[in-house]
Formats: sequence, structure tokens, C-alpha cells
Amino acid sequence: MHDAELLATVDDARREIAGGWVAVTGGVVTAIGSPADPAPAAARRVDARGCLVTPGLVNTHHHLYQNLTRAFAPALTGGLFDWLVTLYPLWSRLDEEAAYVSAYVGLTELALGGCTTSTDHLYVHPRGAGDLISAEVAAARDLGMRSHVTRGSMSLSVKDGGLPPDSVVQDDDEVLADSQRLVAAHHDRSPSALTRIALAPCSPFSVSTSLMARTAELADELDVRLHTHLCETQDEDAFCVETFGRRPVDYLQDVGWMTDRTWLAHVVWPSPDEVTRLGAAGVGAAHCPSSNMILGSGLAPVAELRSAGVPVGLGVDGSSSADSASLWLEARTAMLQGKLRHGAGSTSARDALEIATRGGAACLGRAGEIGELSVGACGDLVVWPLEGAAFAGALSDPVEAWLRCGPVAARHTVVAGRFVVEDGVPARPGLDEQLAVHRRVSAAMQAAV
Ligand SMILES: [Zn+2]
Repeated sequence: MHDAELLATVDDARREIAGGWVAVTGGVVTAIGSPADPAPAAARRVDARGCLVTPGLVNTHHHLYQNLTRAFAPALTGGLFDWLVTLYPLWSRLDEEAAYVSAYVGLTELALGGCTTSTDHLYVHPRGAGDLISAEVAAARDLGMRSHVTRGSMSLSVKDGGLPPDSVVQDDDEVLADSQRLVAAHHDRSPSALTRIALAPCSPFSVSTSLMARTAELADELDVRLHTHLCETQDEDAFCVETFGRRPVDYLQDVGWMTDRTWLAHVVWPSPDEVTRLGAAGVGAAHCPSSNMILGSGLAPVAELRSAGVPVGLGVDGSSSADSASLWLEARTAMLQGKLRHGAGSTSARDALEIATRGGAACLGRAGEIGELSVGACGDLVVWPLEGAAFAGALSDPVEAWLRCGPVAARHTVVAGRFVVEDGVPARPGLDEQLAVHRRVSAAMQAAV
């Protein structure tokens, strides 16, 4: 990749190189240079004139299966709890075909928006649904995307004081045994891993205390990461105080999750003291600005979290609450929310780019491996065209232009040196066939109730 308008490496020195080039060999960045440096010979050269080149964006929170019930009108009448209660019965129809096709379509959508690594949090495992997590892993591998699939779980149904119906919860032993099986089957510990697994009980209001605590012990034993939703809404604060006599962060501490193995989705409502405690523990946060606005959850204290030392990444969140899955859009929204909270001079496009790349890598325990372009890092990069009417007159600062103009999608999205998106379209043929399957599965799910 050569002759970029600007190459924003987001490396340790935050080097930005006008006319820069990146060489990727064997899936890894092997050299970076300016027009004055001789570029190595390459089997393939990609012209990036007129384009910004960045590291691939990292998605730290998602529920891919929810694109089967995207923008589902009956669910948009109340806040998070009403929304969930409306949708749980539809999601109880999930099976392996639905998990595969929703992941295939959702990861394709993410790649078109410049994402190269995505997490997923699949926490609905209806009885008899099959191996949903392995179906997702297969979709990511077919597409060549880097994925951190989390084994989600719910164990606290309505009859036990939780929110979900009985048909979508499992008991602790079943969840833990399956978690162990999936880590053994798919978790790759190498620095250039394409697939990793994390453990992810869903939330305080859908999981028993014992499952939270036992999952933390298992993650320690298997040396994998922990993920859950926390501090998303004020309703959740009230639920925790009423049910556990504790606020969410105290509850997290009680169940052994205050460790740098953990990253949390949302983190909208921690108190200032809780922000400090999360930072001291090295707990990460997946900031999901669109979802937090659509569900009316609130504005997350992102600057405060980052100042306290919390690694903050970006998440598109599930497609039923954020509907659009573009990390470019989330980065722009994060920038706008930051300015709204702290003034026009705060939260630059570079801050948002940093959250979307290095911040995400830190949340996933992959600092230095992904989220930056430096020698030895994974060869994941995005070529963004800064051309046409939307960018006219904007190139005095290509990074600010990238996020303040647009909208823009990736021209090329490259994972481990391979094109996932080339010239603005998916590199792997077959999307139309997958969309036809998706239409059928989605219609059946929405007709089920
Ligand atoms: Zn979520």
C-alpha cells in the first residue's frame, strides 16, 4: 500500500506520514516508510493516492444475531428492559443457520465500514439450538475477519427474579462446560490469532451471582478474557440495589470481576468514585454511543474513564438497538458526544480514531498486536477515500476530514494482508445468496410471535 494522502499509524509515537507506505508480508506489517524511504519489492502494490490509511478498526461490543430483528418497531416503545422483554421470544428461535447467516452478513457490513476485528456477544442459547458459537466462528473464518467471539450466557429467568423467559436460559454447569469446550476448540493464543474466545455472562439482571463468580474463576484457569454489560442504565442501578443491595460496580467486585481480564459494555452510569476504581483495576470499557442514544440510556463519561486509566474501545452494539453497524459512524458519534459533553475543543477526530483502534486493542488484551500499524503488528488496515463532493476543500487535515466530512466507507479493508473488502465491495463472492437466506430466516423469526 503506497502513496497515501496520509498514513495515520496510531503507533506508540502516533506517527502520521504524508505519502506514506506500509508493507505487509505473511499477514504481518514488515515495514513502514515515507516517500523518501525506498519501499521493498511487493507481489502486489495498492495505490492509496487521495486516501487516508489507518489501522483496521476494532469493534469491542456487538450482538450479530440481532440483525435478524433490526429496527423492529414493536420493541422501540420503552427503555432497555421493555425492549429486551419484547425481543427475547423472537430470539428464542435462533439456530445454527441463523447464527451463521447473521454473523456472515453482520461481519460483511462491519468490514465495509472499516472494521477488521470484531467481538461478538451471543448470549441467547435456546434449548436444542445447536452450536451457535461455532457457527459464528465459521462465518468469520469464511470471510477472513479477525474475531473475538464470546460465549455469552443467561441463567436467571423470570421465575428466579430475572428478565428473560425460561426458554433462553441455561444452568451454570451447562454454561461452564460449553465455555470450556469452545475455548479448547477455537481459542488461538498466538499474537497473530484470527480467532479468540472470551466468556461473557450477559448482565446482572439475567445471570445468577454464582454463574458470574464461577465464570471469573474459569476465565482465570483458562487464561481468557471476561465480558459483560454493566452500568448501562439507571434501571440497572435500581435492579442491583434492590436485588443485591449493591450498586453494579460493587457487585462486579463481589463476583471477582475487577481485573484487567475484564472489559464491560456501555459503562454509562458509574459514579466518579467507581470510574476511579475501574481505572485502578484496569477494567476496559466498550463505548456504544449510538445504542446509548437510541435506547435513551445516557451519555457515557468517556473522557473521565480514559483519564482514570480505563482502556476505552468502541462498539456498534447489537443491530437491534444500534441498527446500523458502521464503526466509522460510531467513531463520529463518539466525537460528537464528547464535544457535546466537554466543549468544541475536546474529543478530536484523532481521539475517536485512537478509541476505535488502540483503545479497542487494549480492551481485547491485544495492545501491540492490532489497532496500530507498526512493524510486527497484524497486517490489518483500511484505505479510506477522501474524494468527491463530501471532501472538497477538506484536506488541510485528512484525519479531521475523515470524521467530520463523509459519510465514508472503506475502499479497501485488509485483514492479515488479505482483502476482505476490495474497491468498496466484499472480496468473497456469495453475499447475495447469504442475504436471501437472511431474509427468509429473519421473516420467520419476526413472524413467530
Ligand atoms: Zn449489548
